[in-house]
Amino acid sequence: MKRVVLAALMLVLIQFLLPVLLLSGRVPVREDRPDRLQPTVRPGGDQAQTVVLLQEDGGVERLSLAEYLRGVVAAEMPASFELEALKAQAVAARTYWVAARGDKHAPADICGDSGCCQAYCSSKEAAEKWGEKAREYTERIARAVTETNGLIALYEDRPIQAVYFSSASGSTVDAVAVWGSAVPYLVSVASPEGEEVPNWRSEMTVTTARFKELVTAQYPEADFSGPVNRWLSDFEWQPSGTVSRVKVGGVELTGGQVRKLLGLRSACFSVGAEGDDLVFQTTGYGHGVGMSQYGANALAKQGKDFREILSWYYTGVQVAPMK
Ligand SMILES: [Zn+2]
Repeated sequence: MKRVVLAALMLVLIQFLLPVLLLSGRVPVREDRPDRLQPTVRPGGDQAQTVVLLQEDGGVERLSLAEYLRGVVAAEMPASFELEALKAQAVAARTYWVAARGDKHAPADICGDSGCCQAYCSSKEAAEKWGEKAREYTERIARAVTETNGLIALYEDRPIQAVYFSSASGSTVDAVAVWGSAVPYLVSVASPEGEEVPNWRSEMTVTTARFKELVTAQYPEADFSGPVNRWLSDFEWQPSGTVSRVKVGGVELTGGQVRKLLGLRSACFSVGAEGDDLVFQTTGYGHGVGMSQYGANALAKQGKDFREILSWYYTGVQVAPMK
């Protein structure tokens, strides 16, 4: 009988005491929980993943995801950038790898060409580039990767196409305007960088003869019989000033196609005829879709953290551990 009373007492105690303990936050935490001891190492984190990187000679190199990401961040973003911008870059690069894996370079996952996948440089190449800052920058980038260990950007639970570029002309560009298909999280948003970006505004001069040659090599039907100042006509612009469509010698092209054809720094351009030359003025650098790297740095300077930066540029995404 005594035992029954004791048990009842214990039950009452648990019933009343447990909520009190929970509310006061004093429930003792077991010290041996691995996530308490090593907060940055999660199962399935960067160290547990292997990247198969395509080499320039066609061979492959295997490296841990952590090492690969350090090399991508070093190659893709100035190491002097704010830590939160570097962390946003690390998450974008990790997400890009997750989504691209095994797609076009099988049996390799990805290549190190920035025009195709994303740039990569070895720790040795990075150190050479940084010179006396090598130690500081190496640590900084390692921190950006470690502090975002295993995190990727998801839209409706799927890894996104985490595309990024150098600098915007005031706003980013809708994916549909550049690549022809709409992506719900790759839509135009304001981007705060400006004149502080090196060569944010730039000029490129091409002779009329060379221009004609470049265009007709790809579009033989282009007609340049009219006056030079009508060679490019019927411009359509995005709100950012990026050219969405333009007729070149009567052939309708996207701004991105003109950019590629002439090697312009961006598709945010205007053009004028000066004597035998065409002079293109551009603003920003890159395709303009997704995260602007200089914009990420500007947002970090305003006090935004990497999660805020990522959801600024990739509309409606969540940042979560990869599975
Ligand atoms: Zn590639």
